[in-house]
Amino acid sequence: MTTTYQHWIGGSWRAPLAGHYPVINPATEEVVGHAPEASGDEVAEAVAAARVAYEEWSRTDPRERAAVLDRIADLLTERGKELVPLLQAETGATLRVASTMQVPTAADRFRRYARGAVEPDVIPLAPQPVKASPLAPGGLISAAAVRRPVGVVGCITSYNFPIVNLAGKAAPALAMGNTVVAKPAPQDPLGCLELGPLLQEAGLPDGVFNVITGSGAAAGEALVGHPDVDMISFTGSTAVGRRIAQSAGETMKRTLMELGGKGAAIVLEDADETVITSAIRAVGTTWSFHSGQICTAPTRALVHRSLYEKVVAGLRRYAGALTVGDPVDNSTIVGPVISAAQRDRVETYIAGAREEGARVVVGGERPDVKTGFYVAPTLLADVAPDMTVAQEELFGPVVVAIPFEDEDEAVRIANGTPYGLYDYVFGSDAGRAWALAARLRSGNVGINTVQRHPETPFGGFKESGVGRDGGSFGLHAYSELQSVVWPS
Ligand code: NAD
Repeated sequence: MTTTYQHWIGGSWRAPLAGHYPVINPATEEVVGHAPEASGDEVAEAVAAARVAYEEWSRTDPRERAAVLDRIADLLTERGKELVPLLQAETGATLRVASTMQVPTAADRFRRYARGAVEPDVIPLAPQPVKASPLAPGGLISAAAVRRPVGVVGCITSYNFPIVNLAGKAAPALAMGNTVVAKPAPQDPLGCLELGPLLQEAGLPDGVFNVITGSGAAAGEALVGHPDVDMISFTGSTAVGRRIAQSAGETMKRTLMELGGKGAAIVLEDADETVITSAIRAVGTTWSFHSGQICTAPTRALVHRSLYEKVVAGLRRYAGALTVGDPVDNSTIVGPVISAAQRDRVETYIAGAREEGARVVVGGERPDVKTGFYVAPTLLADVAPDMTVAQEELFGPVVVAIPFEDEDEAVRIANGTPYGLYDYVFGSDAGRAWALAARLRSGNVGINTVQRHPETPFGGFKESGVGRDGGSFGLHAYSELQSVVWPS
């Protein structure tokens, strides 16, 4: 039995005018459920509901907003177990990833921004003596900068972690007093639709959070083009981000852009055995964590020539030991990628790399499985920095290994793509790694770790994005600064 979903608009389900489309399980190729296909009218209806709800929600006592967000986190935690099978079926995530990194992380985000709702929103400024002028009498003039909500926020998200990505936008936006129209990715929007009634049950007023879906670009385009949307918060590819930024510019919408990446992990010649092992494990997450469908994945291993073959051999052993298969099976480490189209895309990159002269150290062939969209963990060595496979984001379980001679060359290669989202430095001298970080044109740098710090600003340099998510920085992204001035 599969469920046929409807849009979540103004606090109730709305049957779509344009029908439904099937959501496919990437492991079994079976239909998980049917998602509604939004027309422009339904997008407009959702925006109108969010606009009406804005008046009250934006003026709600922040402590009340905090209480609602806390209850959302509670409910998500309580219902987590029920949501996992659906999320796993539509995303193809392994059991470990689906149960530990989807619902709990989404709940954490609502919990974090429950605290965010009551963070200070007034920045006092020192009074200034100002001379009389034809404009106004002089005196000691006081002022404050105050954070106000932006308004109606359109949240358009990518497929890799559907409810986590959406929670990362909706939670800070709602905490700040904005209202939301969410447009999740077409491949796996069902868990996001389930959030509608859950947020309502937690006490969120009707219309504050709306969800519309569609199989193509049209629903997102209608949202970006709608004149009554004040901000677009987007997570997705750089190509789509560019189109959204152009369209959003027409109505001067605020944008937060979390885009693609092509992370470099630089392994310096001073790396000792422990650091080399950490580097191999870190790069290995490109295979072992959600089939490499991670924007921050260290997909380029840049290794000092003196350690190159040793690291390549270590990576080969790591990749060779990973179990590929059904994500529902507890022993599976590498599940499918999201769709046949995504698998074909990654395969095309691997074929292109072979043609350009890369050495396939491991993987490179389609795994022998009956159903599902699988790509074997693949390591490509002797890759030149300008090869397509070293320049473009694949979003799959593929690592390229590139040797370098000295630090200058490592920096040149690391910075030599249009992206700048997340780079990593592995070395035994923390001071040297810190200094190297300053030369990387990247929004985030990990030193000897791929672990995250939850309060850091997260975002990209260059074509990896504009603006910052994360911690209080994420909260501020959903605010406008208003200056208030008065005579002392
Ligand atoms: P995508 O760009 O194909 O789609 C993202 C969203 O945009 C989807 O909801 C899609 O329906 C919508 N969309 C497509 N065309 C549109 C248009 N013209 N107007 C409005 N909306 C439109 O990305 P994807 O394949 O879902 O996700 C993979 C990409 O997301 C990768 O590039 C990855 O690096 C990136 N990503 C970035 C971050 C980050 O925080 N920087 C996090 C996760 C994923």
